[in-house]
Amino acid sequence: MYGLSAADKDIQARARAFADELIPFEVEAELAGGLPDDVTAGHRKRALELGLFATNLPRELGGGGCTTLQQVLVQEQVGRVTNALGWVAATPPSWFPPVATRDQLARYLLPTIRGEREECYAITEEGAGSDVDAIEATAFLDGGSWVLNGVKWHVTSFNTADYCFFQAKKTDHPERPGAAAGGEHLLFLVDLPSPGVSVVRTPAYSHTITHHHPIVAFENVRVPAASLVGAEGDGMLYSREWFRFERLMVAARCAGAAERLVAEMSAFASSRVAGGTPIASHGLVAGMLADSVTELFAARSLLYETARGIDRDPSDTKTAHAQCSMAKLYCSEMAGRVADRAVQVFGGRGYMRENVAERFFRELRVERIWEGTSEIQRMIVARQLTNRGVSALA
Ligand SMILES: Cc1cc2nc3c(=O)[nH]c(=O)nc-3n(C[C@H](O)[C@H](O)[C@H](O)COP(=O)(O)OP(=O)(O)OC[C@H]3O[C@@H](n4cnc5c(N)ncnc54)[C@H](O)[C@@H]3O)c2cc1C
Repeated sequence: MYGLSAADKDIQARARAFADELIPFEVEAELAGGLPDDVTAGHRKRALELGLFATNLPRELGGGGCTTLQQVLVQEQVGRVTNALGWVAATPPSWFPPVATRDQLARYLLPTIRGEREECYAITEEGAGSDVDAIEATAFLDGGSWVLNGVKWHVTSFNTADYCFFQAKKTDHPERPGAAAGGEHLLFLVDLPSPGVSVVRTPAYSHTITHHHPIVAFENVRVPAASLVGAEGDGMLYSREWFRFERLMVAARCAGAAERLVAEMSAFASSRVAGGTPIASHGLVAGMLADSVTELFAARSLLYETARGIDRDPSDTKTAHAQCSMAKLYCSEMAGRVADRAVQVFGGRGYMRENVAERFFRELRVERIWEGTSEIQRMIVARQLTNRGVSALA
């Protein structure tokens, strides 16, 4: 099915087997708020051995050199696992190599590709989420170093990462609040821990995973001039490129989650007897199963075709941008609907945290929010549709 090549099927099978190894750890992670560090390190080592780590980076840098479709196939399989246990099959920043200096490559990217370092992203602020341009974080050049200030929200993996990408606007007036308005966007590498970087608080979220999302303050954090990533003013360019990639990977993980849920709920519905017959034979339950597998097929077809389009013509970034938004929008909303039905099919069991449907019901909610909300994806798609016409997108 789907016309996969032998190489595609091979990496898909490896990723599927790996996901099946992780699934037995889910309930322990759920109840303990994550797994012990040594267990996670073992899983990361296994992902590296199986060639499932850094699939999005070129081979000459030590990455997997996979096609976009193959990257999708891997993330789809690890998306079958709850509690973010599949995140050990990490995808380091693939936008970084063309703009990284030799020093940045050696100190940050290459060790990340080897699984020795881990990054996080500090972009969102209390007053700037969907509208990234509204950030108020500032960067001020003082002699040979930059001075960074700002408070960042939802910094995923801050507790496990050892460096972060910090986005700010250039200012010449660090002492005046709001002086950065209209300033150029800059992106910096900040080692963690660094003097001036501190956690304001770590809120609890709907999911229970090892990776936390604290609010982090950057107060007069001094970094060398060489910490600037790429050219001044290009900060937004890199964020946009990363969003495009991550949106496709979100879509892939959502398709994987939906596959797991469809498999689990249909197995349950076939064996659970109520009113003297398996519940799958009750029309109202059968309808939920049929709708779920139909939507999964539609989502997966859209996802794979979007990936294939990028592999065919990587230079067509406009189409890729819109289609990655379409894939993220449809797959994340589809997975949410499937999780809701799965809870219903499992009945009371579906409300227990030891049940996969309950965990995915909570965990999948954020897929419609991060990396751009569903509303933002719709705005992107509609803008391109009205500018370029339907034949450019579908
Ligand atoms: C668990 C989690 C992890 C995250 N990890 C990170 C991270 O690692 N690094 C990071 O920088 N950020 C991270 N984020 C932030 C995330 O990207 C933002 O939450 C997201 O972009 C939405 O921004 P917001 O929360 O400020 O919502 P807002 O932008 O305030 O939006 C609120 C509502 O208004 C709607 N809305 C806003 N603008 C428009 C518009 N123009 N048109 C129509 N509707 C609109 C939105 O769709 C939404 O429904 C994370 C968030 C979560 C929840």
